[in-house]
Amino acid sequence: YGPAPESNAEVKDWLAGHADGISHFIGGHFVTPEGPMTTVINPADDSVLARLTKAGADQIDAAVKAARAAQPKWAALGGHARARFLYAIARHVQKRERFLAVLETMDNGKTIRETRDGDIPLVARHFYHHAGWAELLESEFPNHRPVGVCGQVIPWNFPLLMLAWKIAPALAAGNTVVLKPADLTPLTAQAFAEICADVGLPAGVVNIVHGDGETGALLTGHPDVDKVAFTGSTAVGRLIREQLAGSGKKLSLELGGKSPFIVFEDADLDAAVEGVVDAIWFNQGEVCCAGSRIIVQEGIAESFFSKLKARLSALRIGTPLDKTMDVGAVVSRPQLERIRALVATGEAEGAILHSAPAELPAQGTFCAPGFFTGTAPAHRVNQEEIFGPIATTLTFRTLEEAMQLANDTRYGLAATIWSQDIDRAISAAARVKAGVIWINSTNLFDAGAAFGGYRESGFGREGAREGVLEYLAPVLPGSRKERSDP
Ligand code: NAD
Repeated sequence: YGPAPESNAEVKDWLAGHADGISHFIGGHFVTPEGPMTTVINPADDSVLARLTKAGADQIDAAVKAARAAQPKWAALGGHARARFLYAIARHVQKRERFLAVLETMDNGKTIRETRDGDIPLVARHFYHHAGWAELLESEFPNHRPVGVCGQVIPWNFPLLMLAWKIAPALAAGNTVVLKPADLTPLTAQAFAEICADVGLPAGVVNIVHGDGETGALLTGHPDVDKVAFTGSTAVGRLIREQLAGSGKKLSLELGGKSPFIVFEDADLDAAVEGVVDAIWFNQGEVCCAGSRIIVQEGIAESFFSKLKARLSALRIGTPLDKTMDVGAVVSRPQLERIRALVATGEAEGAILHSAPAELPAQGTFCAPGFFTGTAPAHRVNQEEIFGPIATTLTFRTLEEAMQLANDTRYGLAATIWSQDIDRAISAAARVKAGVIWINSTNLFDAGAAFGGYRESGFGREGAREGVLEYLAPVLPGSRKERSDP
């Protein structure tokens, strides 16, 4: 059932080759890790995959200096030459698709079907798309220049895809980067650094430093970083905003969500049930834009919930490298405990949990997918991000009531609307406060569509024209076009 055995063997060899520890990638060099090591765990079986040290102030400084030194030349190369590098990276990612998919699955716990058909192809697509923007930059943004050196911090739920979302637009626009992956999932970032070296990307254009939040804070707070781009929790986003207040640095934040998934009574219910699978059980629910609050019109609620229960029973949960699995392992034990604690508050507040009846593997951090009925809007499970495979449900009678429930959250990242009446769907979409809205579909991502939130989901956009603009600064009249000009 598993992926091609040669991919597994290649990953095994690669891990053996990194047994001394995952290195930082600074100024084109792989820096031998020194100091206390932490372990990188495969959440599907609790085995140790690799070891990691965290970068300290000296290494962050060296990485920022390398990025600063490389930036003028990288910008001066021009859009066409930069595009050639981005195309080369995209092709390398495609060539190594199977390897990267297996590595990502082992590191994160998400299923091989998702990494093979979702994460990794989208990574390649993101670099192809931004190669196009590099080509167009001069003609589309004649009055802009690169921002300079970007400090980027990403989470563990889509490790390589979040890296691509950060690095591709930054490079296309003529910036250089220092990126810090999450310490739970550093492996595909290491593989990506190797791809940068393989394609001959000039030294210092991409720098990757590993570590936890302390390392992240050293990077975001470094005085010579011009722009900070962060994806992660709302709590850390707030810390970074405070840290950067008054610094003059450009900032974009992609944070949490509690996205509504609205089902009107005229919806195609079977399609909407499949939508729930993609909205909240996909990626173990570790998705910032997960449709985590299912809001159903009263007349169809009972039949929708019974269809949902039937679908839940058919979900396959287990070994993520098995191609037939729908749901893999949650990223870590603390994360599993967090999910359980929050779910327990739902039960304590009187809601009823419907869990997948599947037997979970004895080893690893697996969480049974499910959904709540009988919740009230004020329940913690309706207000806080569970970030696990468990949705809440609420019912409504009128459009007015649906809109009120949909917007009853401090977040505003995404929303999904199901109705066969397109007028109704579009007028509802206009009233939901969310950065991304899907109609009769969910969790669709494309490099050409801007992604980002409102309110406590953050600000700034990734992807599309808006995403490129996040990495550019206007040229003031009379000033020089690019920092690289003599
Ligand atoms: P997190 O905020 O704890 O960590 C994210 C990253 O920030 C990690 O690399 C971490 O090491 C680093 N970090 C931690 N403290 C820091 C600090 N003080 N300064 C700088 N960096 C610091 O989040 P997480 O638990 O890794 O990820 C899950 C969260 O991310 C969820 O809330 C989810 O909604 C959100 N998320 C949002 C998006 C989006 O696009 N909006 C995408 C994915 C995940």
